Amino acid sequence: MSASNALEVLVQALSSGSVRVVDLTVPLQPSTPVIKLPEMFAPSKPFALEEISRYDHRGPAWYWNNISCGEHTGTHFDAPIHWVTGKDYPNNATHNIPVERFIGPAFVIDVAKEVAANPDFLLDRDGVLSWEKRHGRISPKSWVLVRTDWSKRPNAEAYLNIKDDGAHTPGFHKSAVTFLAEERDVLGVGVETVGTDAGQAPTFDPMFPCHTLMHGSNKFGLASLMNLDQLPPTGAVVIAPPLKIVNGSGSPLRVLALIPG
Ligand code: MN
Repeated sequence: MSASNALEVLVQALSSGSVRVVDLTVPLQPSTPVIKLPEMFAPSKPFALEEISRYDHRGPAWYWNNISCGEHTGTHFDAPIHWVTGKDYPNNATHNIPVERFIGPAFVIDVAKEVAANPDFLLDRDGVLSWEKRHGRISPKSWVLVRTDWSKRPNAEAYLNIKDDGAHTPGFHKSAVTFLAEERDVLGVGVETVGTDAGQAPTFDPMFPCHTLMHGSNKFGLASLMNLDQLPPTGAVVIAPPLKIVNGSGSPLRVLALIPG
């Protein structure tokens, strides 16, 4: 099929519903949970909306707002420059990453059962290999999304799940991150939790292994995704371009998945 035919087929499939679009984005509002780091580290601001005018004396025919938030708020993109291990790559920030790298096939690893039994569950290399035995090999330049059903938690407190000894949320064992980055050459990973690392990752060696090793391999992260339960294990395409913030370490974004209808 020629490229123009492929696009024509895509447009027809979107129009007929034989390809569906799934929104993987959480609502962005002041109550959207933001990662809470141990207290010795600087915090990130939550999302805020400040009205400029609403068809009133400040602007009779128009409604608009100022917005503010940390770059890593709500459903957001982590660029390699976010981490010290990725700081020296060329084109490692939100404005200069080649845009082709924001779109790729999605491989969805479902560990919801394991996480229901253990909120500190870590996906490791063996877990990925056993998924590949069932669904096939993860291809290069793909997004690996981990379905945990964590986004279904009922409120921010349950979502952040912070106890006396820190947060208890699922994530990656370093063996899985190294495997996906080096042996599968993925674009990056996406998760339903507030960050790509597990809640207890400040205590791991290395600290925050997913950030350390993914960004250390010039790869990306997508955090606070939802609706991963609507995706097939293979066959979806994910579109995840961050805002073009000059020298940005990441940004809130809308993440869309195309799936067979
Ligand atoms: Mn982040």
